[in-house]
Amino acid sequence: MRQAVMTAPGVIAYRELPKPEPGSGELLLKIMRIGVCGSDIHVNHGLHPYTKYPVVQGHEVSGRVERLGPGTRGFAVGDRVTFMPQVYCGTCLPCRTGRYNICDSLKVMGFQTTGAASEYFAVAADKCLKFPESLSFEAGAMIEPLAVAVHALGRLGDLSGTRLVVYGAGPIGNLVAQSALGLGAAEVIATDTSDYRLSLASSCGVRHVVNPKNEDMDAAILKLYGPDRADAALECVGVEATMTQAILSARKGSAIVVVGVFGALPKVDLGLVQDRELSLVGTLMYRREDYERAIALVAEGKVKLDPLMSAHFPFDRYKEAYDFIDANRERSMKVFIDVS
Ligand SMILES: [Zn+2]
Ligand SMILES: [Zn+2]
Repeated sequence: MRQAVMTAPGVIAYRELPKPEPGSGELLLKIMRIGVCGSDIHVNHGLHPYTKYPVVQGHEVSGRVERLGPGTRGFAVGDRVTFMPQVYCGTCLPCRTGRYNICDSLKVMGFQTTGAASEYFAVAADKCLKFPESLSFEAGAMIEPLAVAVHALGRLGDLSGTRLVVYGAGPIGNLVAQSALGLGAAEVIATDTSDYRLSLASSCGVRHVVNPKNEDMDAAILKLYGPDRADAALECVGVEATMTQAILSARKGSAIVVVGVFGALPKVDLGLVQDRELSLVGTLMYRREDYERAIALVAEGKVKLDPLMSAHFPFDRYKEAYDFIDANRERSMKVFIDVS
């Protein structure tokens, strides 16, 4: 079988390997789709702080069960599955208390261990989740980023009837906004400086969209939500300007979930966090229940993924996917590698 290896930033080579044997408790998957995400793009540019080369990418994945390893239960050959790409120790305090997404020695397939960029991939069955026939393989590969959104929202507890602001309408911001509504939020304001991304959010059912280039953000929140403002905000960009805005516009006593990955150290007004008794809440990856909720949201039609699917590239033209993304920054939401 063929495997794609990034040997250096921006360089992808292919190597021929024997088809893996599924070990005890493992499934052998025939890989169908791989989604390319922001972290992969950082690896492509040599800007990911925790990835060394050579690296086999592929952590947003869908496939079919090809063979069952000894002792696997609950799966059958032909099942459509995706998997959780985390590798965790199981013994540290976070792992012992069920929070393996923040394991002290967390590794992620496609970054610090081998990802699924190959025709077949053997993976522990207990990291795999089935998804129904009604979901495309593209949708299956998008369960991973959707689970990121679901987990981030879970950090706020029950969302029923809440009004939220989501800063950033890129792939993760869009999924956060849609999932919030799917999980019971009453209203969501999505913000972005790209009208294209805002129009996508609208077409996915997010009613309030604000472009801070054209409209004062704080005034827009007051206009839409009144003096009580939003119940919580989620920062999904990872830059100083949006974090500053989120703090400035937050209702006293409310929470801001920090979803965006900050490349540079932001300078923000912690005096306001103190004085207004704000909560800054971190979020990392997901757990099994987030994957299950993500699959249900798509299966129930509460989250639309089709509008976010930007382009496809065949497995032997992996590099062209990155060239496309670099050339279409704003308009590429989710780009897929069609492995089979
Ligand atoms: Zn990703
Ligand atoms: Zn651990």
